[in-house]
Amino acid sequence: MVFAHDTESALLAAVELVNSAGEPDTMTEPDQLTRFFDRHRYTGRHAGDRAELDQIRALRGQLRTLLVSERDAAVDLVNQMLARAGAVPRLVRHGDEDWHVHATDPDAPLADRITVETAMAMVDVIRADEHSRLSVCADDTCEGIVLDLSRNRSKRYCSVACGNRNAVAAYRARRQP
Ligand SMILES: [Zn+2]
Ligand SMILES: [Zn+2]
Repeated sequence: MVFAHDTESALLAAVELVNSAGEPDTMTEPDQLTRFFDRHRYTGRHAGDRAELDQIRALRGQLRTLLVSERDAAVDLVNQMLARAGAVPRLVRHGDEDWHVHATDPDAPLADRITVETAMAMVDVIRADEHSRLSVCADDTCEGIVLDLSRNRSKRYCSVACGNRNAVAAYRARRQP
């Protein structure tokens, strides 16, 4: 494990959320947000309505900016996000998850909680100087974000589809006389 469990969970969720904005957008219906909420085992308030979905959709651009920022620029964004949300870190334990950090009230809007969780995760990334774990997909036509949590830092593509497409292209290039 590169980061603490809650940091990795928050980063995986943030990257998935940001990448959902790529073509085709996969966060256009409230039930898609509900499935995302369940898949990432969020707790706390989840309205499940169009207004909440719109807030989450609007958040994706900000999160993308944060995830692709240079280290020092990311520091400013993280500090702003935490201050604006009035984040107060606290240790919590719920369900089968051992002690981990939450920095918002469970009743705060989902978009605010995802913002703060992502910012808190970036605190870890920045402190550990592990910014190189985040990059943009090596596929020329894809803007997806890659989160590389592998031991040997080998992940270059945002998805299996992008990885396969490029493997096929490389194979064809090698076969050219
Ligand atoms: Zn939790
Ligand atoms: Zn990609």
